[in-house]
Parts: sequence; structure tokens; C-alpha cells
Amino acid sequence: MKADTVPQVLPMDQYNSVLVANLHPPEWKNPEPSGRYNLVVIGAGTAGLVTAAGAAGLGARVALIEKHLLGGDCLNAGCVPSKCLIRSSRAAADVRTAAGFGVYTAAAAEVDFPAVMERMRRLRSGISYHDSVARFQNLGVDVFLGEAQFTGPDSVKVGGKTLHFSKAAIATGARAVELPIDGLREAGYLTNETVFSLTERPRRFAVIGGGPLGSELAQAFHRLGSEVFIFQGPDHLLNREDADAAEILQKAFLREGIELFLKTRPTKISLTPQGKLITYDRNGQTESLIVDEILLGVGRAPNVEGLNLEAAGVEYDGKDGVKVDDYLQTTNPRIYAAGDICLQYKFTHTADATARIVIQNALFMGRRKLSALCIPWCTYTDPEIAHVGMYESDAQEKGIPLDTFIRPLKEVDRAIADGEEEGFVKVHVKRGTDKILGATIVARHAGEMISEISVAMVGGLGLRTIANVIHPYPTQAEAIRQVADEYNRTRLTLFVKSVLRLWLAVGRSNFMEKLKEYPAKVRRKFTGMVTFGVKTCGKR
Ligand SMILES: Cc1cc2nc3c(=O)[nH]c(=O)nc-3n(C[C@H](O)[C@H](O)[C@H](O)COP(=O)(O)OP(=O)(O)OC[C@H]3O[C@@H](n4cnc5c(N)ncnc54)[C@H](O)[C@@H]3O)c2cc1C
Repeated sequence: MKADTVPQVLPMDQYNSVLVANLHPPEWKNPEPSGRYNLVVIGAGTAGLVTAAGAAGLGARVALIEKHLLGGDCLNAGCVPSKCLIRSSRAAADVRTAAGFGVYTAAAAEVDFPAVMERMRRLRSGISYHDSVARFQNLGVDVFLGEAQFTGPDSVKVGGKTLHFSKAAIATGARAVELPIDGLREAGYLTNETVFSLTERPRRFAVIGGGPLGSELAQAFHRLGSEVFIFQGPDHLLNREDADAAEILQKAFLREGIELFLKTRPTKISLTPQGKLITYDRNGQTESLIVDEILLGVGRAPNVEGLNLEAAGVEYDGKDGVKVDDYLQTTNPRIYAAGDICLQYKFTHTADATARIVIQNALFMGRRKLSALCIPWCTYTDPEIAHVGMYESDAQEKGIPLDTFIRPLKEVDRAIADGEEEGFVKVHVKRGTDKILGATIVARHAGEMISEISVAMVGGLGLRTIANVIHPYPTQAEAIRQVADEYNRTRLTLFVKSVLRLWLAVGRSNFMEKLKEYPAKVRRKFTGMVTFGVKTCGKR
């Protein structure tokens, strides 16, 4: 591997130098392939790393091929850097809103943007050893740096060497979709691959795409001091989420001063001495806006190019990626896929979960299914929007009747104390039962809260069980138990109410003495009904 093919991660400061030294060491020499591999893994993002580490840990002979940086998007250009910026931006927002809590700062919050970016680079490089070439070598994985290309149904080429395999896993991920906007390429734009290399704050920052990536970074940059404009084709942000959830976020964005151009698409971009001129149509009028930087966040395209998938007999398409069945097997039975390259739900935790399925199915004749996974997700805006399972519209499409229970955070003591009353917990159950089909949570830490619902769904626990779980008071997660109480109250039928009334009347008489004269079965039935009634009506 020549030094000139080593990726540059700008700015090449001490932190990014460590990052590159860990994830694509300049002096690295690829090993000699050691015979036939049990598993060759292509791509060393989350999906590839988890597959390789797991398989090697179980004793398989594993090769891992990466053309850029081990760690992939999550570590280098996705979750990690974005969450570091979001954390700094929350600190800035907290200082700005401190007066609302009776705390007065001596001066207005001032953001040192280069320091924010340096903190991110420091933290990212600090955790990079975990994904490093050295660590994977120690795990017994043969690491090859270079671009992988299939040469046949059971062989792949990298840096002039051919590796033979019994099984292979494609985990080459996805990249930002390009938009065919006139002049965009010439004017220049940022994607997730370049935005984290900024060292100066853009004064005016346009984000094209109001999905999770666009919304997270738009709010972060705005809180870090940029003037932010979001262009979003659909009529609300996060258009895949429920409209009531997205509405809360939209209001928060507008209140903070982020400008939204909904149902609006840029038609032309041109470079002017004042900046990048974005022309767009709004309400039938042609308007324009000048900004310093444009971030593109309109979706992800699978990295299928250059792999020579035809030689391996692996079917794919440019939009949905590598075609897999429910066992994550491609059209070549030796080859599996995991992560963004083949999934609709492009998240680090799904890359991880599918990697585990691949290890079992490819190497140990497992029959684990993608469709059996319960997949939550979260958009890390403020407030966060987290979801798991079905939306109401999914249930309608499938003809599944459901009941929905909602607890607004403005009725939750801890949310009131925290000044975080905007949001809700919404849970859908199969009609007439407590079986949870899906949930949406809008709250400052919705990403932490949703796991309780995921645990319940995976464990087959319904709202009745959640109602019996003691939650510490005061916590925002109490809202989940309160939703469960709400469900329990629906069980308080007229019949149960009558029994309770009877019981209380009995309490005023000497009926209990008389009840002792009845057979044990009758006494148990009576007290059972009463206990149930007391449990359900005693909730707040
Ligand atoms: C800005 C941003 C923020 C995000 N935040 C979150 C978040 O908070 N939570 C979350 O769950 N998800 C988040 N994601 C999504 C998450 O990063 C991805 O879902 C995850 O990284 C996918 O992992 P992967 O292994 O499938 O692919 P990648 O991480 O993309 O890894 C694929 C690897 O394959 C390599 N490769 C490609 N082609 C070849 C080839 N021919 N030969 C050799 N190597 C090759 C690539 O260089 C890359 O390193 C975010 C994404 C972005 C862009």
C-alpha cells in the first residue's frame, strides 16, 4: 500500500493523523492470503467490523477488506461526529435558555466553532482504536486495505491479490445521493463526507433535505451560530414520521429561528461573488437566496459500483442495493449482505444486528430472519423523535385494528420540572389487547426512552406488564407507565365498576362475615374481581 493512496481526513491535525494511523495506517502492507477463507468480508463499517470480529471470535478464518477507513460512516462521517456536534450545540442552546430557569450568565453564549470541531475530532480519534486495523489484526482477522472486486462466484481481488472464500459478506454501505440540480456540482456542496472537515462556521448554511440527517445537522449548525435554511420537498420535516411528531419539531425549529422552505425544491445554483445563489420556486414564484455552504441530505445510495457483482452472480439495483432474501442471502448462495448496502433501515444498530444474522446463517447453517427483528430508531434533534414498530398507517394498510394511547409530556411531572413539556409518548396496541404494535416518543431523550418499549415488544410483554413496573419518580420514562395505566383504565368495564361498588357497599355491612359461609371457589372469584378492580382504578 503506497502512502499516496492513504485517505486524507481534513484538517490533517494531530487528531485526524491518529484517526488515519488507526483506521488506514500509511505503512500498512496487506498480508499474504492464507488459503481459503471461511469468510471474506467486504467493507469495514459497522456491518463489516461486527461480522469479521464475531466470525473470527468463533474460530473462523476471516479476511476483511476496506478501501477507505475502517469504521465506515458511523465513526468517520456519521453518528459519532454528528452526535459530538449536537452535544456542543445543546450546550450552547442550554446557555441561551438559562434565564428561563432563573440562571443568568454574565455574557451571551459565544460559540468557538473551531473548538467545537476540534473537540469532535479529538473524541472521534479517541474512540478510533476500537475499529482499528491493529485491533482487528489482534482478533486474528487478515486485514486488506484496498478496493475489493469479485473475480468469480467464490473469489475476490484486492491490491493484486486474490482471496478465495467459502462464504463472503458484502457490507459496502451507502453514500449521499446526488441531486440533479442545475449548477450544484459547479458551485460545490457538502455531504456527510465533507461537512465534518469544516473548520470555519458557515455564516449562511442551506440544508437540502429535511429528513433525519438534514434536520439533525440543521439544528446543530443553527445553535452553533449559522443562519440556517432548510429546503424540503414534502410538506413537513421528517415526512416519514407521524405528522404530530414532526409538527412539534417543526415548531421548535421555527421558534429557534431556522427558516423552512417546505414543498420547495431548489432549481438552480450559481456561484456569485457574494456566495452560492440558490434559485427555487415557492408558491408559483421564483425566488432566490444567497448562502455560504450547501449541505446535501436527501437520501442514501448503496455502494454497489466497482464490486463487479456480475462476476459473482449477485443481483442488485442502484436504488435498493444488493438483493437479499429474509436470511440476508444474495442471489449467490455463498454470498450474504449486511448493513446499508441491502437494508431499507439504514442505521448503525441495524448494521450490527444484520451482521450477527449473517455470521449465524452463513457459517453455522442458521435460519435467522431479517423480518423477525424489532428495529427502533431515533432522530437526535431537540426534542428527539424515536420510533419502534408500526405506525398507525402501517396497521391500516395491513388491516390490523389498533387502539392508541397517548400521554403528553406536559402532564408528566419530571418533564414539567425540566422545562421539556413539548412531546408525548404514543403507543399502539392491537385492538382489545395489550399487545404493543408500535410506539413513537417525542422527548428530549426519546432515544433513551424508546428502548423500554423495544424490550417489551421483543419480550412479548404488553402494556399490562408495563403498568406493573415501578418507574422511579420523577422521570420522563414514567410517561410510558402512565400510557399503560391509561390502557388499564379501559379494562375498568361497567361490570368491574359494579363489582367494586358492591365491594365497598359490602364494606359498610357485615357481608364479609356472611361470605365466609360460601365455598372457597366463590370467595376466590369474588376477591379476584375486586383485586383486579382496585388495581385498575387505583392508577393516576
Ligand atoms: C450524518 C449521519 C449521521 C448518522 N447518525 C446515525 C445515528 O445517530 N444512529 C444510527 O444508528 N445511524 C446513523 N447513521 C447511519 C449509519 O452511519 C449507517 O447506517 C452505518 O454506518 C452503516 O454501516 P455499514 O457498515 O452498513 O456501512 P458503512 O459504514 O458505510 O461502511 C461501508 C464500508 O465499505 C467500504 N467500501 C465500499 N466499497 C468498497 C469496496 N469495493 N471495497 C472495499 N471497501 C469498500 C466503505 O469505504 C466503508 O468504509 C448516520 C449516517 C450519517 C450519514
